[in-house]
Amino acid sequence: MQIDDSIQSKFLEQLKANGLRFTHVRQEIFYLMASENEPLSIQYIASKINNAHFVSIYRSIDALQKAGIVKQVPQGFKNLFELSDMFKPHHHHATCEICSKSIEINNKRIEILMKELTKEAGLIPTKHHFEMYGICNNCSEGLI
Ligand SMILES: [Zn+2]
Ligand SMILES: [Zn+2]
Repeated sequence: MQIDDSIQSKFLEQLKANGLRFTHVRQEIFYLMASENEPLSIQYIASKINNAHFVSIYRSIDALQKAGIVKQVPQGFKNLFELSDMFKPHHHHATCEICSKSIEINNKRIEILMKELTKEAGLIPTKHHFEMYGICNNCSEGLI
């Protein structure tokens, strides 16, 4: 799989702008996040990147996060990671509480409502974040 040239050059620009060196591990993390459609755990990322220590992957994710390239997606007790809104259009997640399967939610109605509620609270809307939880079809089968 190939990632978009413009996304790749934005990645390089963003590294430079934040005084970060280009490294093999940083590139691989970026590539992996750009190709997968759900937030990833550090364990998963580490399992996909050969020849890199867990600690170095952990530090790279931390650096990418500080540079605004990667963002944290809290899910229950875990922290997952995905590319920031700069690289992926703004969205939310709906996550199964049992198996942690996570689905991206892109919904105009939510976005409009969030802006309205922020204004009603007397603020000029800048950003918002929230996550939705539930139980997926697969996991609910055994419950009924
Ligand atoms: Zn499930
Ligand atoms: Zn939103």
